Amino acid sequence: MNIDRRKFVSRSFAGAAGILAGSHLKGLSAPGRLTAKQEEALSSKPEKYDLMREVMKYRKIDAHAHIYFADNSPREQLDFGERLGIEKQVISRYLSIMPGTPEQFREYNDLTIKAIKKYPDHLLGGFVLNPAYKKESLEEIKRCTDAGMIGPGELYYQVKINDPLYYPIIEKLIELKMIIFSHAECQLGVGGYRMKYNGYKEPNTSIPEDFVDIARRYPEGIFQYAHIGGGGDWEYMCKTLQHSPNVYVDTSGSNNAENMIDFAVELLGEDRLFFASDNSYHQSIGKILASNLTEAQKKKVFFDNYNNLLKKGGRNVD
Ligand SMILES: [Zn+2]
Repeated sequence: MNIDRRKFVSRSFAGAAGILAGSHLKGLSAPGRLTAKQEEALSSKPEKYDLMREVMKYRKIDAHAHIYFADNSPREQLDFGERLGIEKQVISRYLSIMPGTPEQFREYNDLTIKAIKKYPDHLLGGFVLNPAYKKESLEEIKRCTDAGMIGPGELYYQVKINDPLYYPIIEKLIELKMIIFSHAECQLGVGGYRMKYNGYKEPNTSIPEDFVDIARRYPEGIFQYAHIGGGGDWEYMCKTLQHSPNVYVDTSGSNNAENMIDFAVELLGEDRLFFASDNSYHQSIGKILASNLTEAQKKKVFFDNYNNLLKKGGRNVD
């Protein structure tokens, strides 16, 4: 039965409401008697929602996932992928240490190279770098591309995405027709509070406005704004990125706020979302299945949108 969760819930609720409301319902043919429709609602069982069938129905590329320096990685990430029908995961080991030296990003990328060589059918590699080291970063792009990586993984907060230090890196990535993917944050604006770069936030963390700026400077660039479900103000993110057609958002993160996906499609259009988990696999699939997107739109988000951009560089899955 292909019925979305929302319809399932509302139909079941409609059935229950009929029982509870009893003779107080409008439209009764006579006091205490039910209309034919209500009789039918009471006698029929709620339609079944086969969750795993829905999950497995869609081909999926996870546009943002991570591996770690741990014995169970990447095996653990692959297990999730297999169970949930994720064909490919774009993995990286994000450079969350400061200052992020060339020695450090090479070591992190070595981990990813090892993983994609071991599991070439399921993992796509993303490299990390630090634009503050221009020469070493450009060399690292070459080394990682030669090793079969598809583009940058989640670039981190050593340098803001619109900092001039990034220009030569971005120009190289554009030349290689790669998706320019960066971590981003945007905290909830409760009471007018906006993100502050204090001891808790790295001062060069990219925010939506930084993406708008760099996307305008490089209209030929393809930018991936990380994890709208990462716990920030996703409405503000989408509103800010609305008129930057070359910025795409990935839907990853552990946050599943109701309406997030619908809101993003409404503002950005159905072509500018990528399914991704950031390793919150269940939530990330669930929030798309629970949205009001059509089946065709879900197909795009789960697979086609990202794959179509990979195609530009000949790195598509198929
Ligand atoms: Zn991130």
